[in-house]
Amino acid sequence: MNIFEEVKGAGSIGISGHIRPDGDCVGAVMGLYLFLKKVCPGAKVQVLLEKPADIFSCIKDVEEIHTDFTTDIACFDVFFALDTSKDRMGEAEKYFDSAKKKINIDHHISNKGCGDVNDIVPDASSASELVYNAISDKSLLDKEIAKALYIGIIHDTGVFQYSNTSPATLKAAADLISYGFDFPRLIDETFYEKTYVQNQILGRALLESIMFMDGRCVVSMIDRKTMKFYRARPEDLDGIVNQLRNTKGVECAIFMYQTDTLEYKVSLRSNGKVDVAKVAGFFGGGGHVRAAGVTMQGTFYDIINNLSARIEMQLKDKK
Ligand code: 5GP
Ligand code: MN
Ligand code: MN
Repeated sequence: MNIFEEVKGAGSIGISGHIRPDGDCVGAVMGLYLFLKKVCPGAKVQVLLEKPADIFSCIKDVEEIHTDFTTDIACFDVFFALDTSKDRMGEAEKYFDSAKKKINIDHHISNKGCGDVNDIVPDASSASELVYNAISDKSLLDKEIAKALYIGIIHDTGVFQYSNTSPATLKAAADLISYGFDFPRLIDETFYEKTYVQNQILGRALLESIMFMDGRCVVSMIDRKTMKFYRARPEDLDGIVNQLRNTKGVECAIFMYQTDTLEYKVSLRSNGKVDVAKVAGFFGGGGHVRAAGVTMQGTFYDIINNLSARIEMQLKDKK
């Protein structure tokens, strides 16, 4: 894909990502936004996205995002959906659907592509890496675009730790840091640093975690009452499931938080033997082989029973 070619002649360009945007989503969207504002000075370029977490306020122009999803443009000439399939676009879906040209850039194996133009690469580390690749003329990059895309890559690779990190990912990152932003600080501030509440709730989730399936699975849950007690927001729970996955002997980690009386947002992580995209996909969610998610209805025990049946099916073939 060559973004510059795709937007030629467009008077209005919209950009969005998925609901509850993570670092890759925000990085890819903002990297593309800053790039398009620079190379299409005659076009109206707008981002319509849920408000990013406070840690992303270091990204240039993040305050320009239309977080209330209102816009003066009835029908965009081009609309980009990044890091998402249609089911997770939320309020942006209507703008994507009505756009004259829809472009979908994503790396989720569960996404078959929903645009007129699709750049879906399941092997790519992140949507941000795909945006980097789609900027063919690298002389058009600058420090702020590079910083946004770098944030996206470090978030989806766990700072180059997960198996989705490829030589191409590292080459892209090497090029990006050559633009001279303070990357060690960025990694600390957007990835490792936790607020007091985030650490407390992480500790609580670890303390209350339960091993099952002979120690091959671990699960933890935070209910609404506990969220309220700590005044925690969903983004304060990011990273808990990755910590659970680090438990020795564990093949599959499950973390969920309650979103309604009988509804939970489930995060799944695998150490390689279980394809969690398949598990989440079975219940209507999706993601990647080693990191996936889904929203499920029922009690905590219903959900664990349903999930463990699917996980066990995969594990029993792999002793
Ligand atoms: P997380 O567990 O961090 O929320 O998500 C892990 C991965 O699964 C991410 O790549 C995310 O995009 C994907 N994912 C999480 N929840 C859902 C969901 O409800 N539906 C789909 N299709 N993908 C999800
Ligand atoms: Mn994402
Ligand atoms: Mn992503």
